[in-house]
Amino acid sequence: VKVTFTPIQRRGRGVTGTIIVLQDVTEQEKLNQSRREFVANVSHELRTPLTTIKSYLEALEDGALNEADLAKRFVGVTRNEADRMIRLVNDLLHLSRYDSNQMVVMKRETEIKQMLEDVVDRFSFQLNQRNIKLMLSIDPSIYTLMIDPDKIDQVLDNLVSNAIKYTADEGEIIINCRRKGQDWIEISVEDNGLGIPKKDIHRIFERFYRVDKARSRNMGGTGLGLSIAKEIINAHGGEITLESELHKGTKVTFIIPTFHLEGEQK
Ligand code: ADP
Repeated sequence: VKVTFTPIQRRGRGVTGTIIVLQDVTEQEKLNQSRREFVANVSHELRTPLTTIKSYLEALEDGALNEADLAKRFVGVTRNEADRMIRLVNDLLHLSRYDSNQMVVMKRETEIKQMLEDVVDRFSFQLNQRNIKLMLSIDPSIYTLMIDPDKIDQVLDNLVSNAIKYTADEGEIIINCRRKGQDWIEISVEDNGLGIPKKDIHRIFERFYRVDKARSRNMGGTGLGLSIAKEIINAHGGEITLESELHKGTKVTFIIPTFHLEGEQK
């Protein structure tokens, strides 16, 4: 609590009273703290790949450059790390746009079946490589949905890539698209992978929150995918939730309204 004292002075009579203002600064302090944490996280996340890149470049300089196989491998590592930095910076740019309320949701009628099939197609190589089965189940009565296709595509991309990242070879992923009541469409991505410990679930949509930092980094993760997904779904007037059980699997579900929100064009 911030306390300020202001004396009340009357001419000729000196101080006749004091105004005491008690200000609850908890929220402000929380905000400041989360800003500080965010900057620390960003710095750390950027420094890690940079340090790796630097040490591999030094190794190349120190002689690895003359051994073709080694050189190729080291160049590969630095390229991967640079790619991850680009992804991270892109994710941060997205988030900063959302933070400054510059997220422009450009909704249009989108064929949902086609969209989901395109997402699956994009991952087919990875799925085949790791022998992961993916089942797509769509209510045949659902044709189109009023969404910003690029943004929802980004959400689906994040969810499917997480399901693949955190599922062992030969695993199974199910994408389900159903109606929920009269006014909502529900889309879920479910896997039978690693799962998330109970104690971590309530923080999982926070920026940079990861159950296993090393694992996420090795998989090329930025720790921002779920928080971006949440921003996008919220901006669509929807909701996103996650259920998970350790060693059993994870299910992320989001709902999108089929009715038109106030101020939206039909
Ligand atoms: P990341 O880039 O690390 O995957 P996300 O924001 O997408 O970042 O996810 C945050 C964390 O949530 C991940 O690091 C991982 O620990 C956990 N997570 C997300 N999806 C899954 C999943 N399908 N199965 C298990 N853990 C998951």
